[in-house]
Amino acid sequence: TARQEGVTSRLYSLNGGHWTLSPSTIRTALERALEQGQLHLAYQPLVGRGGALRGFEALLRWAHPQYGTIGPDQFIPVAEMSGLIRHIGSWVLQEATRTALGWPDGTVVSVNISGRQFEHPEFIRELKAALAHSALPPQRLELELTESALMLNSARAERTLRQVKAMGVRVALDDYGVGYSNLGRLKLLDIDTIKIDRSFTRDLTASLPGQVNPDAAIVRSVVGLARDLGIEVVAEGVETQGHLNLLAQLGCETMQGYLFSRPLPAAEAQRWLIHWGRW
Ligand code: C2E
Ligand code: CA
Ligand code: CA
Ligand code: CA
Repeated sequence: TARQEGVTSRLYSLNGGHWTLSPSTIRTALERALEQGQLHLAYQPLVGRGGALRGFEALLRWAHPQYGTIGPDQFIPVAEMSGLIRHIGSWVLQEATRTALGWPDGTVVSVNISGRQFEHPEFIRELKAALAHSALPPQRLELELTESALMLNSARAERTLRQVKAMGVRVALDDYGVGYSNLGRLKLLDIDTIKIDRSFTRDLTASLPGQVNPDAAIVRSVVGLARDLGIEVVAEGVETQGHLNLLAQLGCETMQGYLFSRPLPAAEAQRWLIHWGRW
C-alpha cells in the first residue's frame, strides 16, 4: 500500500499544470473502468482518544491496466466535468455501505461526496437506495462535504442537507479552514463533524521555539468553538508523534493519518479491525 499511496500524477501534471492525457481520453477510460470493475475503495482508519477506532474513510482508487493505480485527485475533476461523477458516486456509496456492514457495530464509514453529486436532484434517492441495499444503520454512514459543495446552490444544498440529516446520516465538513464558513453557520446546518485540513496539521510543528504558531492558535480556537457547539473535530494528515501530541494538547479528539495507517484495501481494513481489538 505504500507504493499504492505513492502514486504520482501521470494523467495530470500538477507542476506543469496540464493534462498528459486529454480529459476526453480519461473520460472514455473512466467509463470503461466503472464497467470493468477497475475502481475500488481504500479505507483509512480514524482513531479517537485513547486509541479507540471510530471508523474508516473510504477513498477511491482506479487500478488502470496501463497506468497503474491512479489517485482520485487525477480523475475526480474529469468525472465532475463530464457528469460521470453521479455514476461513480453512487457506486462508491453502494460499495462503502456494503463493506461497512461487515464491520463491528458502531464503526462509521465516511464517504466523500462531490458538489456536483450532492446538488443533483437524484442524490437523496441514491443515498436511500444505498442504505436500503446494504441495510447499514444510517448513523454508521457519514458524508464528507466541502464548504464549496455546501455553497454551490445554497437553497438546494441546504434542503438536501436537511433531508440527509432527517435520515439520520452523519455529515462532516471536509477540508475545514481552506474556505470561508464560520462556525455559527455550521451550527445552523447541523454539521456533526469538522475535518481540519491537512495543511494545518502539516504546519503545526513548523514554528520556531518560543513563538506562537498561527496554525496552532487557529486549531485551538476551532476546537474550542466546536466543542461548545457539540461538533466533533477530526484532524487530517497526522503523520508524526509530534503532530499527535500537539493536536491532543490543542483538544482535538479524533485523528487520521499515516501515523496510524495509510488507506488500506477492504481485506486489510478487516485485519486492522481485528488487530485493533474491535473483535
Ligand atoms: P480528502 O477527502 O481530503 O482525503 C484525504 C486525502 O489525504 C487522501 O488522499 C488520503 O490518502 C490523504 N492522506 C491521508 N492521511 C495522510 C497523511 O498522513 N499525509 C498525507 N500527506 N496525506 C494523507 P487521496 O486518497 O489521494 O484523495 C484525495 C482527494 O480525492 C480526497 O481528499 C477527496 O477530496 C477526493 N476523493 C477521494 N475519494 C473520493 C470519492 O469517493 N468521491 C469523491 N467525490 N471524492 C473523493
Ligand atoms: Ca475526505
Ligand atoms: Ca479532507
Ligand atoms: Ca482534500
